[in-house]
Amino acid sequence: MNNAFQKAEPILQTLHRNGYQAYFVGGAVRDFLIGRPTGDIDIATSAKPEQVQELFEKVIPVGIEHGTVMVRYDEESYEVTTFRTEGDYHDYRHPDHVHFVKDIYEDISRRDFTMNAIAMGIDGELIDPYDGLNAITKGEIETVGKPDDRFEEDPLRMMRALRFVSQLGFTLSSTTYQAIQQHAPLLENIAVERLSIEFEKLIQGHHASKAWPLFIHSNTDQHLPVFKEEPSLMRYCATKKWRALGDFAEALCIFHLFEPTFPIEYWVKEWKLSNKIKRKASLLVSSYNEWHVGNELWTIYKLGFELLSPFVRISNLMRAKDEIDIKTAKKMFEALPIHRREELSINGKDIRSWFSNHPPGPWIESMLVTIERLVIEGHITNEKEILKERVLQWNPQEED
Ligand code: ATP
Ligand code: MG
Repeated sequence: MNNAFQKAEPILQTLHRNGYQAYFVGGAVRDFLIGRPTGDIDIATSAKPEQVQELFEKVIPVGIEHGTVMVRYDEESYEVTTFRTEGDYHDYRHPDHVHFVKDIYEDISRRDFTMNAIAMGIDGELIDPYDGLNAITKGEIETVGKPDDRFEEDPLRMMRALRFVSQLGFTLSSTTYQAIQQHAPLLENIAVERLSIEFEKLIQGHHASKAWPLFIHSNTDQHLPVFKEEPSLMRYCATKKWRALGDFAEALCIFHLFEPTFPIEYWVKEWKLSNKIKRKASLLVSSYNEWHVGNELWTIYKLGFELLSPFVRISNLMRAKDEIDIKTAKKMFEALPIHRREELSINGKDIRSWFSNHPPGPWIESMLVTIERLVIEGHITNEKEILKERVLQWNPQEED
């Protein structure tokens, strides 16, 4: 077992000592068996949420109604969930009800794919009733039980299947794939927020190039927000050598550059994304356009250090040939005369005081941007007296 599981062992031990069963389950077990870095470790137990709460000092009741509490231990967080099965998903959001069950086998039977339906005990022993280990060895994604039933029950699982293709580079078993072809329209019933979470993970996968053709051939893209309005969009995605992206914002930038008919705001609204994603995507799009009209220094400055890597990722994905590497971008940024507005030797107050007879307004901001840009592009030096002289050349009356 690796360090992450060893670190979590005391939680299983505490549960065992108190007479409960407990296992590691879900994605971390799968990733450990594949040999990938493991993400969050989830634990399934026969203890009820209240009982788990009594046993540990730091417990956060994150999803008590679904049987889950978060246990904080040794600076890590673990989701500890009572063995359960799920009822029907009538609203396609949450199961109507959750039943606690006695043993791990029943708990495992509700899980989506055989590779995700393996439990691991404290000594590393596996409980693998659906032969998930074999699926992992073959690199195959197959549902627990009949795919038709499982996708009808919760259609989100189709999107999850495709995101696992992108994350793991696995293939879909033929029955799983056929069922997706047949049930793709059910994706329209899924809450967009749930789709977005899975779709973002797909975008972050290293094998997205393997997932896009599956969307096209199963017609799944025709049941996704925005993609359904433009059949060529997913086809365009499939023509590119895709790389793992950082988040949804980076993908939005690319989708918008492919098909400018749909503004970023529209994507954000349709996929119910955050304002943070909207701001980042918009800045990446404007930066990409600025760069390609030759304003390279200004682009690098406007992006700021944090967004250099996302910019390099999207630029290289858009082009057949790498056009900029991160080392060069960072060097360019470091060589800039200033790195943020605050480093300019003048500010808005100075400009106001030099034009005290002129009422303040948006002209101050546009003056600052003009000066900022002249400095960045090396036309004037960032010294107060020099900038002042340049500012004073401006005659506000001319523009009134
Ligand atoms: P990741 O490493 O990306 O988090 P994961 O497999 O852990 O992948 P989660 O969404 O965290 O994915 O779900 C944890 C586990 O819960 C899954 O491995 C699976 O066993 C089960 N699960 C999650 N979503 C569903 C679902 N819609 N239907 C059935 N089982 C699910
Ligand atoms: Mg997980």
